Amino acid sequence: MIEELIARAARDLINSQYAIALTGAGISTESGIPDFRGPSGIWTKNPEAERRAYRSYERFKSDPKGWWLERLTTPSLLGDLEQAQPNAGHYALAELERLGILKCVITQNVDGLHEKAGAGKLLEYHGSILKLRCISCNSRFSHHEFDLQKLMEEDALPPHCPKCDGIVKTDGVAFGEPIPGDVAHNSLEEAWRCDIMLICGTSAVVFPFANLPRTARERKIERERRTDTGLYAVEKVPAVTIIEVNAEPTPLTDEGISDYLIQGKTGEVLPAIVEQVKKLRM
Ligand code: NAD
Ligand code: ZN
Repeated sequence: MIEELIARAARDLINSQYAIALTGAGISTESGIPDFRGPSGIWTKNPEAERRAYRSYERFKSDPKGWWLERLTTPSLLGDLEQAQPNAGHYALAELERLGILKCVITQNVDGLHEKAGAGKLLEYHGSILKLRCISCNSRFSHHEFDLQKLMEEDALPPHCPKCDGIVKTDGVAFGEPIPGDVAHNSLEEAWRCDIMLICGTSAVVFPFANLPRTARERKIERERRTDTGLYAVEKVPAVTIIEVNAEPTPLTDEGISDYLIQGKTGEVLPAIVEQVKKLRM
């Protein structure tokens, strides 16, 4: 059964003109990074941490210095992300891109693992822990461009943007923080353009990201159909096929937004899809 769905996905991908992938925390659990809402998720185990996280951006706006001090002196809930390495799922998507099938990856993850796995066109919807960002002009900086420890010792936090003097925060988008305009715009364009959307390891409950599949679903194309009387009728059909690869069903499955769900681990299913694609293309 799962083999049939894997073969179906491989065929759909091969026949596509513009396939894109959307990913969430689930694709990184096999790299040792916990997700939020899976059975061993951070929020599932620690609801108080979730309540605190929801106030994070408000706190940054009212007290950026205090926010940075807390940030630099408390360990991250996600563990030491900079040490994490991509897994077979990240590599499979990078390979689909090299094969010319996948045109773009839009990820909610902040862990930088798609980049480490060699992703080409990558939109990091919620930013990346590998970067900092000016909240006024959206310029991104690598961590090396600021000596945060020194700024802390000299009581000079928060860091300021060398281009516009705006306040700099981590690139990772906090709860309540608007999605940076450039990435929000480009993601919407990709969702509007694609004919295959491969959604991997996301519970699809975090908005506005979860609107991307819903937006794609709304797009229709016209197709001619021969009627019983031998005449041709023009009908409107969905322009995109939406495939989910996830450990469990999601609201996208339940609401019929996705065409089908391949229930399993991304680190196993995605490489199996790539293998099928290669076999069928030979
Ligand atoms: P989520 O935690 O809400 O949902 C993860 C989904 O993936 C769940 O449905 C779970 O069952 C499934 N899953 C877990 N492991 C899987 C596997 N190996 N294979 C297939 N499916 C698997 O994650 P979300 O939808 O991405 O939302 C969480 C938000 O928190 C995101 O917006 C993200 O920015 C952030 N976050 C990021 C990271 C990261 O960067 N790695 C980690 C945790 C949270
Ligand atoms: Zn700036």
